[in-house]
Amino acid sequence: MSKGRGIIRNILGGIIAGGLMITGVYLRAKRKALQENKIMPLFFHTISKEFFFKCILWLKNNGYVFISTEQLLNYLKGNGTVPDHAVWITFDDGWQENIDNVIPIITEYNIPVTFFISTDPVENGGVFWWSYVSRYGKKYLKTDNTIKKMRLISESRREELIKQLENRFAAGMTREAMTIENVKQIARLPQVAVGCHTAHHVMMTQCNEEELNYEIKTSKEKLENWIGKSVNCFSYPEGDYNSHVREVVQRYRFDLAATTDNRFISDNDDPFLVPRFWVRGEGFFSAAKCQMLGIWNPFMWKILKMFDVDHDFDKFLAHLKNVLADIFELLFAIEVFLSSSGI
Ligand SMILES: [Zn+2]
Repeated sequence: MSKGRGIIRNILGGIIAGGLMITGVYLRAKRKALQENKIMPLFFHTISKEFFFKCILWLKNNGYVFISTEQLLNYLKGNGTVPDHAVWITFDDGWQENIDNVIPIITEYNIPVTFFISTDPVENGGVFWWSYVSRYGKKYLKTDNTIKKMRLISESRREELIKQLENRFAAGMTREAMTIENVKQIARLPQVAVGCHTAHHVMMTQCNEEELNYEIKTSKEKLENWIGKSVNCFSYPEGDYNSHVREVVQRYRFDLAATTDNRFISDNDDPFLVPRFWVRGEGFFSAAKCQMLGIWNPFMWKILKMFDVDHDFDKFLAHLKNVLADIFELLFAIEVFLSSSGI
């Protein structure tokens, strides 16, 4: 995303979060979350040190207790309990900047976290495929030239297009993913669990049988080989799964798989479809608080539906610009009317 759009997004986020707070939606959700005593599941991608520290402080100050994947798994299997107001923290993809921004905080405050890592970027080149698409897709690809479009095509086609971009532009890209050494290093920490996130961060429902098996098997074997421990948890990239995908993941002897379904975890949840709330990790902190309570996404989906833009932020911005232009025009007309009438 460009810097300008990032800033607009942050400002809009702040306004929306302000609205959720003023209208009492936030306070009601906060009270409900603490009363119902369900597990708060969070996932991040990247986050600055300051922002992550703020999230941890907010969780601590509100009485949340951090639990590990193992504790969660025992609870879901009915073999153990979790403390009241438990929170489960996860990170997807395996971004290298989390080594500096997250690791020092979790070690200092002894917070268990799980990193779900895609192995191919770690091993080959260090760049996630969507970075090629956002930088070069519009200019160098014909039809499937945006990240959104690429998520809807077959895995073989996605791979072919990304290979084209990689061959051309890999030399100019900066590393985003952890190195193998980074993965080994974090896996040694008592606070860290490592989980799979496929090899190529594929859309699993777009894979054929062979691709699906390859993506799960290779990533599990590679991670286990690197860290010298068995890897028993998984997260579906982009939360993209169906019943078949879920079944294949289970076949590879995982114990738990995480989705991006926007719910708190309860004791009767399927360990292979564990829900999680996405926390963006930048912008106004009030927005992050709404994200941690799970009220952000449903609200955003409602707004996007109102504008009929189907989860597409670009279209949403275009509509919003039109609406704002209409409002300014109206205000201008009122101003002209008032000044001409001498009011
Ligand atoms: Zn991911």
